[in-house]
Amino acid sequence: MDSALTERRRQTRSNIYRCLYETSGFCTRQTLALALGYSLPTIYQNLSELVDMGLVRYSGEAQSTGGRRAAGLEIIPDARMAVGISVTADGLRIAAADLKLHELAQSSVKMDFFGRSLQYIGRAAAEQLELFLDRAGLDRSRMLGVCIALPGIFTPDRSRVLFAPTLQLSGEPLDDLYKSIPYPCCAANDATRSGHAEWFARGAKVDMAYLSLESGIGGSVFIGGAPYLGSNHRSCEFGHMCIVPGGLPCSCGKQGCLESYCSLDRISRKLGLTPAQFFDALERHNPEYGLLWSDVLQHLAIGIANIRMAFDCDIVLGGQLSQYLPPYMNLLREIVAANDPFGGNASFLSLSVLGGRSVPLGAALYYINEFLDSI
Ligand SMILES: [Zn+2]
Repeated sequence: MDSALTERRRQTRSNIYRCLYETSGFCTRQTLALALGYSLPTIYQNLSELVDMGLVRYSGEAQSTGGRRAAGLEIIPDARMAVGISVTADGLRIAAADLKLHELAQSSVKMDFFGRSLQYIGRAAAEQLELFLDRAGLDRSRMLGVCIALPGIFTPDRSRVLFAPTLQLSGEPLDDLYKSIPYPCCAANDATRSGHAEWFARGAKVDMAYLSLESGIGGSVFIGGAPYLGSNHRSCEFGHMCIVPGGLPCSCGKQGCLESYCSLDRISRKLGLTPAQFFDALERHNPEYGLLWSDVLQHLAIGIANIRMAFDCDIVLGGQLSQYLPPYMNLLREIVAANDPFGGNASFLSLSVLGGRSVPLGAALYYINEFLDSI
């Protein structure tokens, strides 16, 4: 069979699988034929291939008012799984997810990675991954791959870490990270992956900018149904937008970046507190922390208003700091609105729905998307 015909047939099967994947309600062969414009024999043939591949199953019958009842169809979410690992200076977070990004298991391990080599981090991740898979009783034969999310950016050929100041890494080959892991493996930027998980959780249709508030600050943006990555995969490094020329020193070596004003480190590590201790003291009206928090919110609002000005879309706040933001969202929206010359009440601003799980789940989503594109 010529390759163009093979590719066309694969594309047809892929479209049918995608349509089933994205349908939340009851779906029959007739529904698929109508939605995709294929003949019923084409639908039959491709469905039987997908059933034989173990990816689709029949799922009961429609309520009938007479005649033959239509058989329902659905994808099998746990036909495959993917794992995401989030690496930060203080440890690992691991999550396994099925094809619908349902979390199958998760784990956190405290470790000190600050100033450690990528090889050291890779070995620790490999060891913890096997323990995690054993404890959760997950079937390795279904593994699509392991994506490791790092708080850093990579060289344009994606072979080395270019810049990861919160881990003190620069220039090391990513192969050092992968070589201890016996599954398909890749590395990705943490804010890009967590933004992707949030976008997926919202149906992957809306235009959305994501601002990740962790020890460092990053982000991602989704426009016209796809992530915008930039010419060098460095788009949306919102943390290093200058918001105060000559302002506070930043981990990148510059001054006045959004990250130097609004990172989690400013209200925790730099004060010798955990984030929970800071917010406890804030609730008890500690005056010093009250002033500091007000300064964080003022600068965060400037950053948010700038992102809104550039993209004119919904903005989602994620990362560890976002877990503490619910009591302050009304105030933050007010300050953002005051910075917006076009008016409005900043209702475009919302909080992450996945919370602390968004980085490892977003990393797992990398291999899920790759699988969906390959069917
Ligand atoms: Zn910076």
